[in-house]
Amino acid sequence: FSRVTVLGAGLAGSEAALQLADRGVRVRLVEMRPAVGTPVHATGSCAELVCSNSLKSTKFESAAGMLKEELVRLGSRLYAVALRNAVPAGGALAVDREAFAREVTALVEEHPSIDLVRHEALNLGEAARGADVLVVATGPLTSDALASSLAEAAGAEHLAFFDAAAPIVMADSLDGSKLFRQSRYEDADGGQAGDYLNAPFSRAEYEAFISSLVTAERVVQRDFESRDLFQACQPIEEIARKGPDAPRFGPLKPVGLTDPRTGRRPWAALQLRAEDAHGESYNLVGFQTNLTFPEQRRVFRMIPGLEHAEFARYGVMHRNTFVDAPRLLGPDLRLRASGAAAIGVPVFLAGQIAGTEGYCEAIRSGLHAAVSVAALLKGRAAPSLPIETAFGALLAYATDPATVDYQPMHVNFGILPPFEQRIRNKRERYRAYAERGSRALAVYEDELANADLLLHASAG
Ligand code: FAD
Repeated sequence: FSRVTVLGAGLAGSEAALQLADRGVRVRLVEMRPAVGTPVHATGSCAELVCSNSLKSTKFESAAGMLKEELVRLGSRLYAVALRNAVPAGGALAVDREAFAREVTALVEEHPSIDLVRHEALNLGEAARGADVLVVATGPLTSDALASSLAEAAGAEHLAFFDAAAPIVMADSLDGSKLFRQSRYEDADGGQAGDYLNAPFSRAEYEAFISSLVTAERVVQRDFESRDLFQACQPIEEIARKGPDAPRFGPLKPVGLTDPRTGRRPWAALQLRAEDAHGESYNLVGFQTNLTFPEQRRVFRMIPGLEHAEFARYGVMHRNTFVDAPRLLGPDLRLRASGAAAIGVPVFLAGQIAGTEGYCEAIRSGLHAAVSVAALLKGRAAPSLPIETAFGALLAYATDPATVDYQPMHVNFGILPPFEQRIRNKRERYRAYAERGSRALAVYEDELANADLLLHASAG
């Protein structure tokens, strides 16, 4: 039998270990907790949920729902545990976090093919010793020693330690009668349409927005974060706190813009930049923020044209270790960096360190890495995951070398390929995405089954 070492018994690592072990691989799963902690984990359990206990929407016609269907149909071990430990949460799946982590820990500890060892992995080369393949799933709070070792393998410039991401909103939730397309200094009437959408503020709208922004509830900074925050770009609410006009001279500066509705320069303007090639979602330029998610929804909807904005991703600012996936990872999640050769065995990444964001995404990523590793060990090519599936779209986005300034991303409709004929009704469009994804997944399942790589849902 083959031997695989998995580093980190979090969401991705536990799923990868169980998937590989159920395929007859001997797994050594290395977890540093409880002896060595992280700033956010509180227990020594495997698969501890560090913050919310919600695994998001279960609605079929949502991107999160599509991802869940993949987890069920591909036999995710952790997702089955989540379903068994669900607590009432309306249209979402929330779990009893202690019961969930307890059951995952028991599955891992009792599995005859998994050896759970508790110590901090300090170095990739050492960790790989005795294994045929190494899977690194040490998450956003990878210990410092291991992060340095990964930086050596990946190239220091390809490893980030902090995530300062602006929110992303869905294009079809924006009010086109208020926004206008223009790049700075471009003629408002002529010339080609600019790359940016602009949300123009009147003076009254700006003042109301700034006063809500500075009093909005923020995520409490932990010590380790405020230290790093100091070096990162400033959140928009901090800029506003320096003085009500500061954002107007910073991210909201209106210079070079002419509102075609008034023929004048607006008092202030937010620029929105397309986040994906199809222009399905837009990034709020310069709006890194520490506001809580409900406050981002409330305050950013005060921006003219964003009154009904739907958020594909909220802004975040926190410690986060992740690689520059577009330059380092293939769609099988194998580390392609030249420095990886020194480790001596193939290295795969899974979970947040591979550049995904979200609990279900981490689980799905662990499952995907396990399939890739199992294929490699069998000497077969893993079937490619269709881009029409939720995780296929995320992988395509995250490993596309054209993606610059990569920030971890959760699944959303903005990264799915659009239909040739646009479906105007949003509900119908979302349902069509989900149905198309479901059909593509069926093809992938057949290919996995033919390659003897499909594992069906188990009771255990
Ligand atoms: P983890 O679940 O963190 O697992 C990594 C494991 O590796 C940990 O058990 C860690 O102890 C271990 N480890 C680290 N270094 C070493 C080492 N050197 N040797 C051995 N073991 C090691 N997502 C959501 O969907 N909802 C949320 O509410 C949410 N809140 C978040 C809050 C914070 C502060 C952060 C940082 C992230 C949050 N996320 C959230 C994002 C993400 O979904 C979770 O972080 C998720 O747990 C990532 O899964 P993972 O398997 O990649 O990492």
